[in-house]
Amino acid sequence: MDYIIIADAYEQIESTTKRLEMTDHLVSLLKKTPQDVISRVIYLTQGKLYPDFVGIEMGVAEKLAIRALMRATGNSEKAIQNEIQKSGDIGETAEKLLTKRKQSTFFTKHLTVERVYETLDKLAKTSGSGAVDTKMVLFSGLLIDAVPKEAKWLIRTVTGNLRLGIADMTVLDALAIAYGGGKETREKIERAYNISSDLGRVANVAAEKGLEGIEKFQVSVGEPIRPMLAERLGVPEEILEKFSGKCLAEYKYDGERIQAHKKGDTVQLFSRRLENISSQYPDVVELIRTQITAKEAILEAECVAMDLESGDMRPFQELMHRRRKYGIQAAITQYPVSLFTFDALYVDGVDLTQTSLPQRRQTLEKIINPNIRLKPAIQQLVKTPKQLEDFFERAIEEGCEGLMCKSISEDSVYQAGNRGWLWIKYKRDYKSEMTDTVDLVVVGAFHGRGKRAGAYGALLLATYNPKNDTFETVTKCGTGFTDKDLSQLYEMLQNHVVARKNSRVQSTLEADVWFEPSLVLEILGAEVTLSPIHMAAMDAIRKDSGMAIRFPRFTGKYRTDKSPQDATTSKEIVTMYNGQLKKIGDTASP
Ligand code: ATP
Repeated sequence: MDYIIIADAYEQIESTTKRLEMTDHLVSLLKKTPQDVISRVIYLTQGKLYPDFVGIEMGVAEKLAIRALMRATGNSEKAIQNEIQKSGDIGETAEKLLTKRKQSTFFTKHLTVERVYETLDKLAKTSGSGAVDTKMVLFSGLLIDAVPKEAKWLIRTVTGNLRLGIADMTVLDALAIAYGGGKETREKIERAYNISSDLGRVANVAAEKGLEGIEKFQVSVGEPIRPMLAERLGVPEEILEKFSGKCLAEYKYDGERIQAHKKGDTVQLFSRRLENISSQYPDVVELIRTQITAKEAILEAECVAMDLESGDMRPFQELMHRRRKYGIQAAITQYPVSLFTFDALYVDGVDLTQTSLPQRRQTLEKIINPNIRLKPAIQQLVKTPKQLEDFFERAIEEGCEGLMCKSISEDSVYQAGNRGWLWIKYKRDYKSEMTDTVDLVVVGAFHGRGKRAGAYGALLLATYNPKNDTFETVTKCGTGFTDKDLSQLYEMLQNHVVARKNSRVQSTLEADVWFEPSLVLEILGAEVTLSPIHMAAMDAIRKDSGMAIRFPRFTGKYRTDKSPQDATTSKEIVTMYNGQLKKIGDTASP
């Protein structure tokens, strides 16, 4: 296929801003395109060589394009720069300079789409020393054989200045008209795109096999599925109403969404934006490889920063340290992560995107060999606003952002690439940021794991309630302790171990070890939240809810100068909650 056909189509598309006309021009281009080059034409019209998830970019800087233009036209850099200044566009400059040159040359080869694509592909994959020169020679070779109009579009393509405004949706419309029989078939074609993220492959199947081929289109390991998204509501009653009274509520973990593709020992990870992020998370790749028992699978999970010793989730901000290209191994140990899987989209030959959520979840649980680093998202069937609210508070307190409420009806399919009411997110409008430290009494402890085996993994901490003379649990803290702290604490607390919970300690949690309230520690938390588990200031803000401190961290200060009765009171926690309540959005939130 001659490249001039594409260049002519671009000229027409450029001359309109109306989407319908743009679509018509695209349809005529498709009709002139032989099936074996269709995918390449689709990529090129979007200024690409591959679908985005492949991550190969043309990456030709303007400077390099100018050098190629110098070689192809014999003009000096200065002359070219002057022209660019005048027209403001490197494409038009190329067209003009080539028009002048053409008057003095007689022989050029016809440029074909195949040759253009192959050359640009080679150019994109050239790296290492001497790459710039090789790229320049490759590209100028194309310019030498190009007619002026082609040169204009070639140079705009490689420098990332195509700007035709052909969005994915316009391509889908054009494919529906050209190969599906009419615009009304667009939904089917769109589904194929949503489960493959590859417009080139979709176009190829549509051109070769028509609508029948599109209807049989299947997910494929290695091609990311466009994510299903949720609507948002702020009132539990309204959420349940949307689901006819009951739904599956899942912890909404505060991390990064990861779509994992496993084929034998090969694992690829894709971000919410469908970028391949496998190299950023070698630890996650390994987890999927070892803990997922299916041979082939596509699953979705939230990747969360963790304190592996205490088993506590860490704030979203800590995960940001994993966004790096270098020093990955060090970051893996310093900022470990866990995966909470929430969906299975494909398992061992079976496309699950059209099955219901309960079925997908069942399959998901079957193919996981859970451990502390990888487990299914915590969930609960909820039927009343109270259940939903309680579960929500638990999720927040444990470090989640809220809940994802999901439909469990027959038609609760995975709506790839769509935001709909089958999933509803329930997040908070307000949060109560903690700016001051609190002094809490150690009332219990939980055994440690891993490096902390033999010591305490986390401590159960309480506020003091002077009115009832009780100690009311307010948080479980396993973060901020050095190795020295851990052994020292163990020693210090040995003298206070009691066989049974002291009657002045108010707790619904069952600690592994109970203490006589004595030691006071200084703690800094991220915020004060309502809690269905902790007993501090029970019923003060909401019936059946206590207060808790989220993301607690030991500051290093042993308040041996304070007696347990001098600890922060439950009432003070309520004051902190009310005083620091801020609408989310007013404060910098991730
Ligand atoms: P959206 O992704 O809906 O455009 P957003 O980027 O602002 O919005 P959030 O409002 O945080 O994201 O909500 C959606 C995200 O929640 C998902 O993309 C996913 O990363 C995350 N998430 C955490 N836990 C779950 C879960 N159990 N089920 C589904 N998604 C979850």
